[in-house]
Amino acid sequence: MFGKTGMRVLIIGAGTGGLCLAHGLKKAGVDVALFERDRTPRSMLIGYRVGISPDGSKALHTCLPPDVFKEFVRTTARPATRINMRTEKYKELFVGEFGHNPDDTRSEKSVSRIAMRTALLNGLDDVVRFDKTFTHFSRNDDGSVTAFFDDGTSETGDVLVGADGAQSRVRRQYLPHAKIADTGITTIAGKLPLTPEHVKLLPPKADGGVTLLYGPKGAFVIVHVMRFDGEGVEDDYIMWGYAASHDKFPDMKGMTQEQLKQVVLDMTPKFHPNLRELFRLADPETVFEIKVRTSEPLEAWESSNVTLIGDSVHLMTPGRGIGANTALRDAELLTRKLTEAHHGKDVVQAISEYEQEMVKYGFEAVLASREQMDGNGVIHKPVIGRVVLAFLRTFLRVTNAVPALKRRMLTQDAALRDHVNSDHEVVHAG
Ligand SMILES: Cc1cc2nc3c(=O)[nH]c(=O)nc-3n(C[C@H](O)[C@H](O)[C@H](O)COP(=O)(O)OP(=O)(O)OC[C@H]3O[C@@H](n4cnc5c(N)ncnc54)[C@H](O)[C@@H]3O)c2cc1C
Repeated sequence: MFGKTGMRVLIIGAGTGGLCLAHGLKKAGVDVALFERDRTPRSMLIGYRVGISPDGSKALHTCLPPDVFKEFVRTTARPATRINMRTEKYKELFVGEFGHNPDDTRSEKSVSRIAMRTALLNGLDDVVRFDKTFTHFSRNDDGSVTAFFDDGTSETGDVLVGADGAQSRVRRQYLPHAKIADTGITTIAGKLPLTPEHVKLLPPKADGGVTLLYGPKGAFVIVHVMRFDGEGVEDDYIMWGYAASHDKFPDMKGMTQEQLKQVVLDMTPKFHPNLRELFRLADPETVFEIKVRTSEPLEAWESSNVTLIGDSVHLMTPGRGIGANTALRDAELLTRKLTEAHHGKDVVQAISEYEQEMVKYGFEAVLASREQMDGNGVIHKPVIGRVVLAFLRTFLRVTNAVPALKRRMLTQDAALRDHVNSDHEVVHAG
């Protein structure tokens, strides 16, 4: 069925999912080639923080060779061990400790995108090719598929996997009916170095936690403190992200990064002065704006030897912090299914089994993430929004005060991030 060397898999995109899949297939003895449009490994978008969940850790542990997994763990930042919810004036709403699982193969981890990519590129020199922008594919009479690149070259394989993210060209050609929706939310994010002076400006309990601040009119701020213990990984930093519905922002077309930062300051005059100082102190070069988008539910399609993983098929808002983890889960599952095909299973059957499972959990994650970030939600509306915010704050304060409710909320959140272990233990909810 396949050529002399067995099945050949072509992957488009060296992001979170593509790199994990390439490792998994290589480890299983499958001939794999990965094509990335970036010119060099480090010429990628700003290194924002990604939280790796137990699902993500497990997928990476399964797919990566042990030395690469060890290097990946070494490059992670100190993990967050608490969820810290406050008002925009730093008043406590809910603080829950979820502790740290010492088992690296199923723990929560904080990583920088760039550090993660660097670690995951180890051991793939013979697999990854940079400066290769995929343009389209064609199917051949012998059942193989050919990928074409904008430098005029092409590559042929038995399977083509689109791991090319939100703007996926593989998806656009393969599933032209797939729709991406605007959530109505804009975010502006920035970074500043973690100095002793800057630490003093943080909300209480932010160091060592994931901090979420709920302001009026649906405005929302996330703060991460990144401390790297591994030598030479990255300098420690604080990262913040400000989100609100589009209509609250001015026209930002053509604005410089410094101007984007000023927009956040102009929109938050009554926020805690220390938080505004963190906004002001962000290094302008790190400031970026994103219009948050999400996949619409997708109708079933007939499987073939072309498939998709990660954001290319189920783009989700960062509201639950599970986009990268779902991409990693896809990579683990597809590795398993394609390995079965490598050992004789029908390849389209193997891909169909992958797609049935992936579409189910992938779109559940899309919906859960959208609930957290929806610019049309009532919290963003003028009058009713105030009522909803008051209700949300009261709910969080009450949950914070009642240990059984607190434990339940932490357990529910953990369940979305860990699909393997039924014992979603919360180390201590105090
Ligand atoms: C602000 C923000 C915060 C987030 N925080 C979290 C978090 O805490 N936890 C979490 O789980 N997720 C988080 N996410 C989501 C997460 O980053 C993505 O879901 C994840 O990276 C998707 O992985 P992927 O492999 O599908 O795509 P990507 O990692 O985006 O990789 C796609 C790759 O394909 C390449 N490519 C694109 N087009 C082509 C082409 N034509 N030819 C060749 N190569 C191409 C790109 O250059 C890129 O390298 C966050 C997202 C945002 C925006």
